[in-house]
Amino acid sequence: MKEIDKDLIKESIRNILIALGDDPNREGLKETPKRVAKMYAEVFEGMQYTNEEIAAMFNKCFEDVKTGDLVVVEHIPIFSYCEHHLALMYNMDVSVGYIPKDKVIGLSKIARIADMVAKRLQLQERIGMDIMHILKEVLETEDIIVVIRGEHACMTTRGIRKPGTVTKTSAISGAFGSNQALRQEFYSLL
Ligand SMILES: [Zn+2]
Repeated sequence: MKEIDKDLIKESIRNILIALGDDPNREGLKETPKRVAKMYAEVFEGMQYTNEEIAAMFNKCFEDVKTGDLVVVEHIPIFSYCEHHLALMYNMDVSVGYIPKDKVIGLSKIARIADMVAKRLQLQERIGMDIMHILKEVLETEDIIVVIRGEHACMTTRGIRKPGTVTKTSAISGAFGSNQALRQEFYSLL
């Protein structure tokens, strides 16, 4: 674990306020650097952990489940921040499918893993890869699919300014890559 340096964030935000031409000592801004540091520590909590550490945190599984049938957990809501602009990625949801080998993971754990990897400076594509990587480790299976949809404030509120533009990405491995019928089954359940 690598702890977030809240004091350095505080100092840096204060400098940004000055760079913007504002007075960091005026009433409305006095506590802002402290508030932002606290908020960043919360929304970037996942920066403190590697994927391996997150896998170890949420590895509660139920063993001896001999199903072999598709498990789908859909529409887990997450927020994240794009690493290119530090802009919010919002209205995001994550859907995960996997084929259990000998165990299934507690359903809330998938949501916690998705949450934690989203709490980093991210790319939507990498959020999917990170979730897949962690689930492979926890579930000991290659047969995983992660589909994410989301809107990016750096596209909808600035730059090209196209509100409503939805980005969809998927991370696919194992049988979901080789077996088109299985992939179709997953998509039809969403
Ligand atoms: Zn961006």
